[in-house]
Amino acid sequence: MARSKLRAMRLLLVGGGGREHALAWRIRLEDPEAHIIAAPGNPGIAEFATCVPIGAADVPSLVQLAIDHAVDAVIVGPEAPLAAGLADACLARGIAVFGPSAAAAQIETSKAFAKAVMRDAGVPTARASMHTDVASARAAAEAFGAPVVIKASGLAAGKGVVVATTLEEANTAISSMLDDNIFGDAGAEVLVEEFMTGEELSLFVLTDGVTAVPLPAAQDHKRAGEGDTGPNTGGMGAYCPADAGDPLFAWRDGSLPVGITQVLDTIITPTLRAMHSRGMPFRGLLYCGVMLTPTGPRVVEFNCRFGDPETQAVLTALPADARVLSVMLQIARGEMIDPIPVFAPAHSAVATVLAAEGYPGTPRVGDAITLPPLPPASWLFHAGTSRRDTELITTGGRVLAATAIGATLEEAQHASRALAASVRFRGVFFRRDIGWRARARGA
Ligand code: AMP
Repeated sequence: MARSKLRAMRLLLVGGGGREHALAWRIRLEDPEAHIIAAPGNPGIAEFATCVPIGAADVPSLVQLAIDHAVDAVIVGPEAPLAAGLADACLARGIAVFGPSAAAAQIETSKAFAKAVMRDAGVPTARASMHTDVASARAAAEAFGAPVVIKASGLAAGKGVVVATTLEEANTAISSMLDDNIFGDAGAEVLVEEFMTGEELSLFVLTDGVTAVPLPAAQDHKRAGEGDTGPNTGGMGAYCPADAGDPLFAWRDGSLPVGITQVLDTIITPTLRAMHSRGMPFRGLLYCGVMLTPTGPRVVEFNCRFGDPETQAVLTALPADARVLSVMLQIARGEMIDPIPVFAPAHSAVATVLAAEGYPGTPRVGDAITLPPLPPASWLFHAGTSRRDTELITTGGRVLAATAIGATLEEAQHASRALAASVRFRGVFFRRDIGWRARARGA
């Protein structure tokens, strides 16, 4: 025991995207001595970590890696390894792990499961019905009337949601999922859901299964084009803190906004209780997509892990002395969170995603990237990059997140955009308007 206190902490960080690069940066900031092993990591993460080429869904090899390196904890970034039981496999070997069990991860991996939990817990969300046959799904869509939302119940890489503005569109979406199986098993069950109006926030809470510690809320930008137009993507940028124009969600004097407290009381705490009573306590990061509707906050979706690109904005908006890592480690070790911190933002942060030509369809890959010198208070988080000899090249649709902080959203937006504009690779595109809703309100 004495030895483990003396040696530097060792962590295995699972994943290789922008979210994990931001996590690696934050871990290093909070514990400069920590030895980070990343699987598979990426060229940005390699600055802070030893990268090992093991895929994020290869559960047995990840567990073996954790054992071989005698890590103090495993921190899981993406949902796939959680759905595949990485947390369960770690716990079975006595390895501390940040991330929920496969059973608890169903809150993201099965929208039908999430709806059932919310119904039992009395959590406000859109009314929905579940269908495995086309006729009943179509009848449900007709009963709701357009606009109506059609969702594949399972994991569909962020593509399984169709907000149908007409019944015709809804019917097409239903038959593509149930008849044509475009999402395979993930679309074998379909949700037909009431359309909610309002602005959306991404709220992350760190939780030991009982206590929830919120991080400052962020706002994602899902559409590929400026002004929220064009096709849906995994996220083209995010800013933090975000209040969606509701003063109840605005930070003042470093105390938790009343709106966030209300979301904890009406949504997060009842959900955690319901998970507990099902024998599936949720430990890790619970991501709540909240719609601020005219009748109050309602859940759009839950995810079982940090969001991407919100994480890049949330972790940089926090002050350097915020102890996020120590809360994550308490949760990983199965301890209760103590003391319970308030994580207030110290800055405004904007993350602008640099995407490759063709994204969100099939992106161009293999192009050389030229990075500019990094100005202070800014970061280029790697998402879809790799090294070819000494050259940095594109390997995915979302390539980098140009992230910057400022005293105001305007400053952060300006710096993030300028940084994004100074990165070069063939076919690069990005949105210049991350944070536009808040800016339009005068932020
Ligand atoms: P999801 O993958 O569930 O987050 O859905 C993707 C996007 O579709 C969300 O970010 C919302 O903008 C939109 N969306 C999902 N469900 C609804 C709903 N019931 N009403 C309105 N918009 C929705």
